[in-house]
Amino acid sequence: MLSHDIVIVGGGLAGLRAAVGLCEKYDVAILSKVHPIRSHSIAAQGGINASLANHPEGKDDSWEKHTFDTIKGSDYLADQHAVEIMCRQAPIIVYEMEHWGCPFSRFEDGSIAQRPFGGAGYPRTCYSADITGHVLLNTLYERAVSKGVKVYSEWYAIALVIDNGQCHGIIAFDLINGKIFPIKSKVTVFATGGYGRVYQYSTNALINTGSGIGIAYKAGVPIKDMEFVQFHPTGLIGTNILITEACRGEGGYLINNKNERFMEKYAPKAMELAPRDIVSRSIQTEIEEGRGFDHPLGKYIKLDLRHLGAQKIMEKLPGIRKICIDFIGIDPIYELIPIMPCQHYSMGGIDTNEKTETEIKGFYAAGECACVSVHGANRLGGNSLLDTIVFGKLSAIAIDEYLSGNNVNPEERPLNAKLNDVETNIKKIANNTGERPFSILSDLSKNMSANVGIFRKKDELALALEKIMEIKERYKNVHVSSTSLHMNYELLNAIELGYMIEVAHTIAIGAYLREESRGAHFRRDFSIRNDENWLKHTIARLGADGTPEISFKEVVITRYQPMERKY
Ligand SMILES: Cc1cc2nc3c(=O)[nH]c(=O)nc-3n(C[C@H](O)[C@H](O)[C@H](O)COP(=O)(O)OP(=O)(O)OC[C@H]3O[C@@H](n4cnc5c(N)ncnc54)[C@H](O)[C@@H]3O)c2cc1C
Repeated sequence: MLSHDIVIVGGGLAGLRAAVGLCEKYDVAILSKVHPIRSHSIAAQGGINASLANHPEGKDDSWEKHTFDTIKGSDYLADQHAVEIMCRQAPIIVYEMEHWGCPFSRFEDGSIAQRPFGGAGYPRTCYSADITGHVLLNTLYERAVSKGVKVYSEWYAIALVIDNGQCHGIIAFDLINGKIFPIKSKVTVFATGGYGRVYQYSTNALINTGSGIGIAYKAGVPIKDMEFVQFHPTGLIGTNILITEACRGEGGYLINNKNERFMEKYAPKAMELAPRDIVSRSIQTEIEEGRGFDHPLGKYIKLDLRHLGAQKIMEKLPGIRKICIDFIGIDPIYELIPIMPCQHYSMGGIDTNEKTETEIKGFYAAGECACVSVHGANRLGGNSLLDTIVFGKLSAIAIDEYLSGNNVNPEERPLNAKLNDVETNIKKIANNTGERPFSILSDLSKNMSANVGIFRKKDELALALEKIMEIKERYKNVHVSSTSLHMNYELLNAIELGYMIEVAHTIAIGAYLREESRGAHFRRDFSIRNDENWLKHTIARLGADGTPEISFKEVVITRYQPMERKY
């Protein structure tokens, strides 16, 4: 049987940073369903937050101010001790990445450049033009490879093996060779990223199915705060490709069909740099009240960068200009960019503490698939890249502590039993005669965008849940056209779809139950925040009847009592 001390599922920033922290002492393997460099982290554009105080207008910045902005941005749902840890670590990990060779953009004096971002009191987002994820990911990947981390590329984790409260490893699908293997490990880390593709309109890569969250949930691991889904204000119309918040950070305006900078009405001080939940709702309101523009692909608002001038656009936002030219045929130096809000980020995920530990011994989670929680009900731009690297690093420290202090013996018996279940399930899919996975996924994702979107209401959420139950029934008979295991992406899609339906179910049920509005979760029928009843995390576990069993968990408040959120 294949065996490693530590198996990390996910070759994005969180997984790679955890591997780099462990590989000198342990036998570490990374498993990734695509080549690590194709992980969604590569697509991050705008930057990573750290209170370096390099910007001329940010000389008073500090980790405490970063902590406060993050907690306020989270609508007070974040666990405050965890936010403090992340913000204290931020300058340390940014300088560490710099020393490891990451080419950040620079100010004239040679210091790392910083730009303003939404919901932040100071310009503290460090960046590399508009390819920050690209440079961070390449830096960490090179380091992991140079240190001898074993990478299983195009291997997919199908199931997590938990027995008696301990994790014994995973069942993996080697797509290239068409084989399914158990992999035994003392520690398993999930760094499997977000679930954007559960929605029809998303800025996320097609690989962002959230299957890691679904796999953990199906194995009995609790997941947290799934109803909090971030909608980014500015997705390019049609393709939903992200148009980074850095466009507004550099001074871009949002314009309606009356030629007004409408953010004046919604966030008079922060304007276009209010947090994402507020800007997305403002855009959606403008569109719903008839002040949007029409396009065959949908209604939209315009993002104006023209006043920034050609030089600034070409120097600081070259990737955005290229996306606009290539995908929609407009040049933002001269024309306005048509944008609409769309799904972008998963605040919820696998329930972990600030050490990335889950309830299960030997099972850890970090990055977007995890919910520590540092983002609470709404993540600030630039805080996710930070979260991935900080908690990837802290995960390595916690795992070292665990392995140094315990004699851990994973067993083969539960792995073999799970392998058997997985093989039986694949045979069943092969013999099914129902629909192909893409048609079921299309209905699932349309349901989520239509009924569990930016604005939510009880009857729509009830309808969403009803449809999910119907979809679950249809999925039982999902059919694939070839049963070969060799590079069979349709089979992989069918397996992943099962997990996506579970993820969608936990999002919809959390949204249905939470009768208040907080951060990105906005209920038209309960439009204000209700701290008395709802200042708590939602926990979902797989119930005995196969539906989510919901409970709640206290939010950790240290120094910052909840206040009204004004921008
Ligand atoms: C377009 C875009 C721009 C963004 N820009 C910014 C930004 O400027 N600043 C910021 O802070 N945040 C940004 N974000 C958010 C941020 O990039 C992500 O949250 C973060 O990179 C996620 O990193 P991760 O390591 O958790 O996961 P990912 O980078 O998504 O990696 C997930 C990994 O898991 C693997 N995987 C998943 N499931 C399985 C499975 N079952 N088996 C095997 N492998 C699996 C994948 O192959 C991949 O290697 C952006 C996000 C998007 C979509």
